[in-house]
Amino acid sequence: MPEILEVDSYRALAQRVVGATITRGWADVYLAKKLSAPAAWSRVVRGRSVKSVSRRGKLLLLETDGVTLAVRFGMTGVLLLDGEAGIEGLFYGPHEYRAQWLRGGLEFADGRRLVVHDPRRLARFEVDPDLGALGPDALTLTRREFDRVLTVERGEGPPIKARLLDQARLAGVGNLLGDEMLFRAGLDPRRGTATLTGDERTRLYRSLNQTLRTLGRRGGSHLGDHMVARFAGATCPKDGGAMRSATIGGRTTFWCSRHQK
Ligand SMILES: [Zn+2]
Repeated sequence: MPEILEVDSYRALAQRVVGATITRGWADVYLAKKLSAPAAWSRVVRGRSVKSVSRRGKLLLLETDGVTLAVRFGMTGVLLLDGEAGIEGLFYGPHEYRAQWLRGGLEFADGRRLVVHDPRRLARFEVDPDLGALGPDALTLTRREFDRVLTVERGEGPPIKARLLDQARLAGVGNLLGDEMLFRAGLDPRRGTATLTGDERTRLYRSLNQTLRTLGRRGGSHLGDHMVARFAGATCPKDGGAMRSATIGGRTTFWCSRHQK
């Protein structure tokens, strides 16, 4: 699913409509699910001009003269500007584009169209989203903020993988990025968050930054080193150890039984 790196490239694409005036907006019942009604989107967006485009975690934000428009991309959402996709290739969901999977979008006075393509129907439009519900952004996370992400009130806390995926604590890390940073840091995803030593926290913080930089350069969250071993019976590409998998934090997690401790 689109994680922080993908949504950041959607942001770069959407940046091109800054200054443009919206003439029409449309949304089907799925994209409009968080609004009062599908018609609410077209009512709210008409006549607004886009002042700036930004991102918080996996949420894309279009600041207009009056309201903030937001897009959540769910499991398979892709942003298109006049048919040009915000990411290369199509790794998410069915590997093709179909007109019936265009769920909604914006049309501008200059004739351009920004649309959301989403086969799985989990993408959502929002107006004036509550940003207070999101933790600090993973791409600009300081060490001090990272230590707060790992702060646990009682006992061992949740598994470290679940904590990394908790968007209220840290915004932007999804399943594949979470597995890759733990793989690189040599940490078992099942470890209780509070059991990490100071050295391990440092290792994980470095790994988080390195994972985001490296995979950003490679072109997406699905291009991590551990990806070749995401199936039952796989061996670790690093040391040949047996890969294990379990559901952690609600997501299918893979890790190496040898070097992740
Ligand atoms: Zn290994």
